[in-house]
Amino acid sequence: MAFDKVSDLAKRRGFIWGPSPNIYNGGVSGFYDWGINGKLLKNKVESVIRKGFSSYSFFEVESPTIMPKIVWEASGHYSNFFDFTVECKKCKSTYRADNLIKESLPNEKVILEMSSLEKQIKKIKCPNCKSPLENIKKYSLMMSTTIGSDKESFLRPETATTTYLLYPEYHRFFRTKLPFGVFQIGKAYRNEVSPRQHVFRTREFTQAEAQLFILKKDKSNISLSDLKTKLPLLSYDKKDPIDIEMEKALKNKMLKSKAYASILEIAYEIIANIGLDKKRIRIKQHHPDELAHYALDAWDIEYKTERFGWMEVCGIHDRQDYDLKRHSEYSKTKFPGEIPHILEIACGVERLTYCLLENSFREEKDRVWLQFPRGMGPIDVAVLPLIQKDGLPEKAKQVFKMLEKNFVCLYDESGSIGRRYARNDEIGTTITCTIDHMSLKDNSITLRDVYTTRQIRVKISDLKKVIDCIMDGEDFLKLGKEVHTRVK
Ligand SMILES: [Zn+2]
Repeated sequence: MAFDKVSDLAKRRGFIWGPSPNIYNGGVSGFYDWGINGKLLKNKVESVIRKGFSSYSFFEVESPTIMPKIVWEASGHYSNFFDFTVECKKCKSTYRADNLIKESLPNEKVILEMSSLEKQIKKIKCPNCKSPLENIKKYSLMMSTTIGSDKESFLRPETATTTYLLYPEYHRFFRTKLPFGVFQIGKAYRNEVSPRQHVFRTREFTQAEAQLFILKKDKSNISLSDLKTKLPLLSYDKKDPIDIEMEKALKNKMLKSKAYASILEIAYEIIANIGLDKKRIRIKQHHPDELAHYALDAWDIEYKTERFGWMEVCGIHDRQDYDLKRHSEYSKTKFPGEIPHILEIACGVERLTYCLLENSFREEKDRVWLQFPRGMGPIDVAVLPLIQKDGLPEKAKQVFKMLEKNFVCLYDESGSIGRRYARNDEIGTTITCTIDHMSLKDNSITLRDVYTTRQIRVKISDLKKVIDCIMDGEDFLKLGKEVHTRVK
């Protein structure tokens, strides 16, 4: 299984550690640490998202992650954001009722209402001990806390709500001109019942959510993008996705507004820029019965993972004027001007980062490597002296010092050169740079390409320029004279 190989590599090579805190009884499920390589990779994913939003005039803000109860009453999360759980009488295991029904009664439709769930649960025994199940309960997905000694509060289950609360400030900042866009990248928390899907379902995670504030009347005539891209759209009433140009999808009424089509196009462009394989992406519409309480329309960009099948990595929602109206009402603040609608792009950063890992995993005979898109690997350059003597480490350290100012660099002198290449292949280091005896004579070094293992010789004085070109995706072999070195 690719999943086992990828998650094993992720653990061994410092991408994803956990569950956290691992030294205490193996950790708590639903919490993970991003190790040194993982954090570097995640940062790069975040940069692509940030750059994507910025290039369509969205501006970034940062809000607190804890808000008093009234905010969540207004947003609807306090009364609507829950799962149904069910308990085993005997072994006391707790399950998510809808998941258990889906697994045990695959031919039955799940309706999230107490009476319907009760009927179905009666037909199911505890998967653990085969005893009857009982006590269906509503289980809030929000993590609660207290501000000061007694103010009931919650950790945010999404960044979006905290972004909306600043609407009067934006209105002034953007000089009352609509539409405008704002985004936030930060942590959110959901108290999942029993998370078992690695980093796809965690209790703490990073969201990157962009919000376009736009007047209702402008939704049908304003577009932020050119609407020329073909996207693999899967309507809720169809079996297979069709590749369709956004303009055409609008004409066919698959999508409800021009502005919505354009943010869907922007979201897809960002996901493609991260480097996920387009053949493993589809965009699926929510069934009208499954729409969130605020949504007019919602499509998810999904990536086909090996273990979990199609997983949502980004959601695109038309939230209408629901949020702003509710916050105006609950806060007793009259918001200036006409209340706009909100179109949202919501990306899950950890999910995208994991998908990029799985997408990049390669295996051939006894070589394993991560073939990230150029420039996306956690380490840009590894600097390796061929051997640990004859002044090579000293020379290599000079090169390392020079490159470290501009790139994420790693200096590695332990083990044979072959082993060091293998280690760097496994973490997807973009370029390895070897200093040998010739380097002392003519100030040239060998660069090795992680995709092909082919090598070129370049002058140290040209190194920065050449590495920049490789990171930008230029043809590796055209940048220097190819050399053949035997690796022992
Ligand atoms: Zn049981």
